[in-house]
Amino acid sequence: MTERADLVVVGAGIVGISIAYQVARRSDRTVVVVERGGGVGEGLTGASSAILRCRYTHPEVVALARDGLRAYRHWDEFCGLAEPAATMVETGVLWLMGQDRASVEADAARLRELDVDADVVAPTDVARRFPALSDCGEPFDLTGDEPHVCRPYDVALFEPRGGYADGPAAATDLVEAARRRGVDVRFRSEVTGVRVQGGRIVGVEVGGFDRIDAPVVINAAGPWCNRINRLAGLDLPWTLDPTRVQVIFRDWPAELGPLPVTADASGGVYFRPDARGARVLMGSILPDDEEEVVDPDRLRRVADASFRDVKIHALHHRIPGLAHRGAVVGIAGLYTINRQDVHPVVGPTDLDGFWVANGFSGHGFKLAPMIGSMVAQALTGERASFDTDVPIEFFAVDRDPIVVGDKTVLA
Ligand SMILES: Cc1cc2nc3c(=O)[nH]c(=O)nc-3n(C[C@H](O)[C@H](O)[C@H](O)COP(=O)(O)OP(=O)(O)OC[C@H]3O[C@@H](n4cnc5c(N)ncnc54)[C@H](O)[C@@H]3O)c2cc1C
Repeated sequence: MTERADLVVVGAGIVGISIAYQVARRSDRTVVVVERGGGVGEGLTGASSAILRCRYTHPEVVALARDGLRAYRHWDEFCGLAEPAATMVETGVLWLMGQDRASVEADAARLRELDVDADVVAPTDVARRFPALSDCGEPFDLTGDEPHVCRPYDVALFEPRGGYADGPAAATDLVEAARRRGVDVRFRSEVTGVRVQGGRIVGVEVGGFDRIDAPVVINAAGPWCNRINRLAGLDLPWTLDPTRVQVIFRDWPAELGPLPVTADASGGVYFRPDARGARVLMGSILPDDEEEVVDPDRLRRVADASFRDVKIHALHHRIPGLAHRGAVVGIAGLYTINRQDVHPVVGPTDLDGFWVANGFSGHGFKLAPMIGSMVAQALTGERASFDTDVPIEFFAVDRDPIVVGDKTVLA
């Protein structure tokens, strides 16, 4: 069977479905999203910590995170759904990064200039709002070999309007929103071929047999992106590595009070509330905890006991009142890390009609609504509400690598 569409998007993760929705809300192009899984959340989006924060190095990325956060904050309006499944939880984001006062103040000023609320807070301010958190600012030896003496930090950065959402719920909402605008979202449909003729895209092959002809195909296949590029015969100049990362969960006793999203350099972790405050979710901010994966289909999905045992110390150090008893469970997911500059590559490639939106390096959930906006503006030339002004060229495939201090998930 051969069908026709104006645009085929490969992958219904948060990035692919955002692109499809954003194209459909500003044009009458026929859009088909082809997803090999049985539902949303089969890839990275299903495991995402879904943290929404704006402290990034580059003004363009800060602006994209800010604009994305605005979409998540007004999610019902953004999706055009009266009762969306996802809601943003605005806990604030606390940055305990071991910075001195001048550097925290500079960070806050830089963010405010970009229209992001940012406060410089002292330990007493933090204790009033989040009494469970210790005020230690000293690096912590997680193996316990080195003696540790807690000493309070001077000041920290706080993004009061940051927080988190829910990956699969947000993607489910976008599927519904896209379908209402005529997008054909197909699950259990694997792209098995990318068809090229005379140096340009002519469509995809699905399930080894069916064909969808289309002048534009977008690779939004998350950690499987290299496979799709290979099917198109494309060798991108970017190293996009599927990389295993782990997250653990613990019950959260209500008597310990509220928690913000916290980045905690002293223990090399981040954590946030989960399950409507009934649990705490914790992951690592250290590249040493990341593990390159050859085949994303062969991911060990359960967290390692060694990861759980070590990281839980970091949580107890930051939250001394948390009982040492209690089950700790963990999962593993994948980042697609762009080794050159830990930022995504988004836009047209040398192969006429073939676009990519890949390599999100741990930032893809918060950026996704505005990646959709950038791609849709570039494809249709039309603007819509909630659009970002950041040009798509910032992430262009033929750019030079973006200069970052540390090539980490916090870049
Ligand atoms: C543990 C963890 C924590 C994270 N925390 C955060 C965070 O706090 N904040 C943040 O902004 N980001 C975070 N991220 C990153 C973020 O979740 C991802 O960048 C984002 O979900 C990427 O979405 P995607 O649509 O590109 O990929 P995916 O969600 O992986 O979607 C790709 C889809 O393509 C499909 N597919 C693959 N091959 C084919 C094929 N041949 N045919 C059809 N379909 C195909 C897959 O089934 C998949 O559903 C985190 C990621 C992980 C793993």
